[in-house]
Amino acid sequence: MDLVTLKRDKAEGDTAEEVTAQKPPVDPATLVHLQLRTGPFWQRVPAYANVSEATFRDHAWQSKNSITKVEKLLESLKGVVSEEFIKDASVGFQRAPMSVRVTPYIMSLIDWSQPYTDPLRVQFIPLGSRLLPDHPKLGLDSLHEQADAPVPGLTHRYPDKALFLPLNTCPVYCRFCTRSYAVGVDTEEVEKVELRVSVERWQRAFRYIASRPELEDIVISGGDAYNLRAAQITEIGETLLAMPNIRRLRFATKGPAVMPQKILTDMPWTDALTQVVEHGRKLHKEVVLHTHFNHPSEITGITEEAMNLLFERGITVRNQSVLQRGVNDIAAVMTLLVKRLGHVNVHPYYVYMHDLVQGVEDLRTSLDTALNIEKHVRGATAGFNTPTFVVDAPGGGGKRDVHSFEHYDRETGISVFTSPSVHTGAHYFYFDPLHQLSPEVQKRWKSPVEQEAMMANALAQTKRQPRANLPPPPVSR
Ligand code: SF4
Repeated sequence: MDLVTLKRDKAEGDTAEEVTAQKPPVDPATLVHLQLRTGPFWQRVPAYANVSEATFRDHAWQSKNSITKVEKLLESLKGVVSEEFIKDASVGFQRAPMSVRVTPYIMSLIDWSQPYTDPLRVQFIPLGSRLLPDHPKLGLDSLHEQADAPVPGLTHRYPDKALFLPLNTCPVYCRFCTRSYAVGVDTEEVEKVELRVSVERWQRAFRYIASRPELEDIVISGGDAYNLRAAQITEIGETLLAMPNIRRLRFATKGPAVMPQKILTDMPWTDALTQVVEHGRKLHKEVVLHTHFNHPSEITGITEEAMNLLFERGITVRNQSVLQRGVNDIAAVMTLLVKRLGHVNVHPYYVYMHDLVQGVEDLRTSLDTALNIEKHVRGATAGFNTPTFVVDAPGGGGKRDVHSFEHYDRETGISVFTSPSVHTGAHYFYFDPLHQLSPEVQKRWKSPVEQEAMMANALAQTKRQPRANLPPPPVSR
């Protein structure tokens, strides 16, 4: 909090302390995080001009009317945006590694008068003109989830935690998905790893989890838990809760950010989740929902109602954002997102550096950007509602606090991390996007020999003086 003391005239009854400590109240109009979009905002989009409130709030209508074909999406934009934009998007989709799926909710939150810069458009609709060459060190499964999977769709990397991927579909497909190696259908660019719902595969995953006494914490993701049927939420939840070693479950879904209507109108799904949470509580085990809002505009009056319902039912919701250029890489936008999440009782848990994902180099930012934004966000609200900014270290190092780099060369864009609790002695590299580096350094990255030289140099410097081995600061007496 600002420590500046504000002086005002002494009023009758004031103590001396009150005169010097009071600040004037802020203008309520400046509390932008409270100003959520309400009313029939979807009717501004010609395709939904005649859609009633009851229809728009129905999750089944949202699902049925989600756009899953590039041609249909582009067709729906005719007369809304310029022909030039439509051509640009058509080229973008041809080169995208992800399938297309966008809900009417998201389509109606995009400001189509500013389609090139709108932060929601940026996340779901690629433009050929904005695509940049991939970083040379990028791989399709950059987090090596498959390399750490003892059973297909079950990643066991951390000592006490595993990631279970029971399905490969989502309510939307984000162009930046880390799991583009498996999520959605094949595209012209990528043939996907098979992770469909399969009783046999689920049973193998359950057997492995039960056989590992060290596993306490299971993330159920995908794909997306929104696309599990109510009976499947119950089956997975109850099977895992029955295992004596399991203490914590997290169902992961982007749903609240892209179709909050489901929580309010798909009562079998919401009730199934509630029952698993309540049963977990009776067993003294924690079951929570993890979600994925990236921009404050994704939070509307409908979101607030949905989050209120979960809050009333005692369901904890935590958020994991991805730091993205043109979406939330400005301190004021990230701060607004964090404050708005807090307002709707969603805990801002993590902000991730963008993974090195194929076809979305235009979305990545530098580590320096994250360090700077974090500085501005910390202190804007309570510490328990302040996210930790992390790098999911490429190559399987797991999540590392952005501040914990052993070495960071802003000129080459190379940062080096260690992960003693995951792989003692291993080093992990993160790479800033090339377009933010000088032309000379960009040229060096084109040569495989130079790439190896820059990385070898970063590693040598890390080993010469790792931050962990730096002498501690002098103790003041
Ligand atoms: S919802 Fe999650 S898993 Fe699905 S495409 Fe988006 S980021 Fe990937």
